[in-house]
This record gives sequence, structure tokens and C-alpha cells, in this order.
Amino acid sequence: MVIKAQAIPNKANPTIKQPGSVNSFITPFIRNKKNLFVVATVLFSLFALADMLSVGADAHVDVRPVYNQLSIPDTPLMSFSENGMIGTEQLKTIHHVVKKGETLSGIFTDVGLSQGLLLSIAHFNEDSRLLTKVMPGNTLTFQMNHAGELASLAYQVSEFKTLLIHHDIGQISTEIVTQEQQVHLVSTHGVIDHSVFSAGKKAGLSDKMVMDLANIFSWDIDFVLEIRAGDQFSLIYEKVYKNGEFLTDGRILAASFTNQDRHYEAVLYDDGSGETQYYAPNGRSMKKAFLRAPLNFSYISSNFNPKRLHPVTKRVKAHRGIDYSAPTGTPVYAAGAGKVIRSAYNKYNGHHVFIQHPNGIVTKYLHFTKRAVKQGQRVKQKQTIGYVGATGLATGPHLHYEFIYNGVHRNPRTVDLPKAEPLAKDKMAAFHDYARPILGQLHNINQGLIARIE
Ligand SMILES: [Zn+2]
Repeated sequence: MVIKAQAIPNKANPTIKQPGSVNSFITPFIRNKKNLFVVATVLFSLFALADMLSVGADAHVDVRPVYNQLSIPDTPLMSFSENGMIGTEQLKTIHHVVKKGETLSGIFTDVGLSQGLLLSIAHFNEDSRLLTKVMPGNTLTFQMNHAGELASLAYQVSEFKTLLIHHDIGQISTEIVTQEQQVHLVSTHGVIDHSVFSAGKKAGLSDKMVMDLANIFSWDIDFVLEIRAGDQFSLIYEKVYKNGEFLTDGRILAASFTNQDRHYEAVLYDDGSGETQYYAPNGRSMKKAFLRAPLNFSYISSNFNPKRLHPVTKRVKAHRGIDYSAPTGTPVYAAGAGKVIRSAYNKYNGHHVFIQHPNGIVTKYLHFTKRAVKQGQRVKQKQTIGYVGATGLATGPHLHYEFIYNGVHRNPRTVDLPKAEPLAKDKMAAFHDYARPILGQLHNINQGLIARIE
């Protein structure tokens, strides 16, 4: 999923205008407002609102879109009304999807228009020349009057740009219409029963959004072994609409996760360096030197039952490592940045990789079906170093993971690791000013839920 940067503000900052006010929360971003067709659009927005609210009827779900201004998408074809034909004359619309091998002159012939007209349009001006760049799969929308003469032609040049060619009594005029994206902020809440994914679904989240949520907390929470029934999450995130229609999910602006008795919160923030990242309320980055679970949990969590898990500490004592049962082929990540000091095969460990990290830390990964790094290679955190398998002494596909600190095996979950970098001191005040209201919103979501349960 790619979101056009131009349509969404670079900083999360401008989205909150009135700290502490729920109404401030939904801020559609509108770049221009041509061709407004207010009545239809307002109705459409209300439908969209009703649609979102209906998600909130589900258990554990709290979706509260509140508009402080209704989004008014552009409706490019409305500019046809400028011809004065609507109402006085019925126009016939032909949508033509360009097929491979078709030519513009062939298409014009097919719809009953002359080559002379095509030539005058193509050479009319720079905008109209865009028509010659038409590609298979593009749609051309012709509107014809009762005499079969062209009234207008619309060509969607790109996702956000449409070329309109008006033709009125032999007169050609052109117009470029820019479709608008609106970003709405919504909030939701989930309580985990079977898995993070099923809770996410109940909360109205796509699997991709669940992964985005989990990734925010992947330095603090082991989403494979530590998730329990009753764990909760809340988030405030973007939904991107184009011309009033849902297009895609955007970014998570703030989220909280309660894992067993530990509560984590994160806020997306741009400290001015151009790179947005998630920070804890104290201004420390959520990114830490080591991931909690060094593998892609999306391969695992969908069918695991947290209620059946044994306490992890027992396993750790039993054989100095943590075993992650996972399907063969599940990508395994470098838990932290470092250098591969071993990438080899033997009959006990199967395909295995050892990584040397700063501060006397070594991590070991055993039983791969396939290794993805070579000895001596530098790896980044979360780089794929191999794939889960059952090579060596293994009864089934799993990752055996060891964390060694100054030569001693440690439980990576409980070992004291260096704290994440905080924001620079001179940036702290601005961060708190930004984070306070959005964290307040997050707390409201949680309190709202508690109030409903009581
Ligand atoms: Zn093991």
C-alpha cells in the first residue's frame, strides 16, 4: 500500500488543532475545492459516517469518527453542467476501457467521432495532448449529445488527476481536475480473546493494520509467546478517502497495548529531522536494541491459542533458549544489528546463525530450513537471516533462539537492556505539547470502554 505523500501531511502534528477536544479529531485535508456538488457530497459523507459508526456496534469496538467539517470530494464530471446542457438535453455517456493494441483513432471511430476532431483535440493545447499518452486499462468517458456530437471527454490521467475536454458548438476547452484525498482519523479498541488478528478484525482493523500495530510494540512485547486472553489495545489511525470513497488505511498516530500487567503507549512524531517514528510518552523512541521475538509473527498468530501456552520461563530454564513453534518458512529476523559470526550446518543445530552484537551480546538461531546470511556479514535489526525449519535435532519446525550476555545465557525477556534513545532535550517540550492531547484521546478510548463494561 502506497500513500501519496502529497495527500497526507508529512507531520502528524497538524492533525490536532484543539487539544483535548474530540471534535478536533477528524480533520479532512482538502487541497482544492473545485466543482463542489455539496448536497450529494454531504449525503455521501453522512453515509460514510454511518458506515463507520456501524462498526462500533461490535463488542470491544469503539469507532468514533467526529467531523469538524464535512469532507467535500470533487466530482469531476459536474463541470459538464458548465456547458448548460444538463437539464435541457440528455447526454449519452460512453465509458471506454482502453484495450491493448487499440489506438485513439480507432476508439474515436468506434464511438462515431471523426479523425478531424481527434486531431483538433490532440493539438489543442498542452493539457489536451495528455490524451495521446492514454494506456491500456485507462478509461475514457465520452458524453455525446442527441446528434451524436461530442459534448465532453474525460480521461483519468493518474489516480488523482483527470483531464476534461469540453466540446461545445465546435469550441474546445480543457480542464485538469485534481481528485482529492481526505484523511479521517478514527479510533478503535480491542480485547484479545483468541488471537491478535481476530481481535483486530472485531475492532475493524485489516490484518495489515494489526501488523502495523504489533510492529510498534515489537521491541517490548513478544507477540508469539506473551500474548494472553484479556490483553487490550487502543489506537487512533487514519482512513484515507478519495472522493468520499474509502481508499486505504493510513498511519497509526497513537496506540496503546496492555500485555498481561504491562501497559505500553506510543505516539507517532516527527522530531523535525524528517523521519517520523513512535515515541513512548516519556519521549524515548519505541525502537530498542533488540526485538522481543525475532520472527515474523503473522505466520504464527492466526492459529495459536494463548490460553494453552505454558509459562515461558520454564522452557528457558529447561534448555537455555526459547522455542518458537512456527510453520516451516517463517522468516526469522536478526533480533538486533550486528555481525554474523557463524552461518553453518551441523547435525545438532541444523542450519544455524550466530550474531555478535555490541556490548558483549550474542544471539543464536537454530534449525533453519534455509539460511539467508553469510559468515562475516553485517546485518540490520529485523533483517531476515533465515527461515524456520526442523533441521538438526528438532522434532518439528521451530526456531530455537538463545540470547547470551557476556558469555551467560539470559532470558531476553527479562534481561536488562540499554534503554532507547530519548529525544534531544530541546525537542522534549514540543513533543509533550503534541503528545499530551493525543494521549488524552487514547486514554478516553480506554475509559469509554471501562464505562461501558460497568
Ligand atoms: Zn530449543
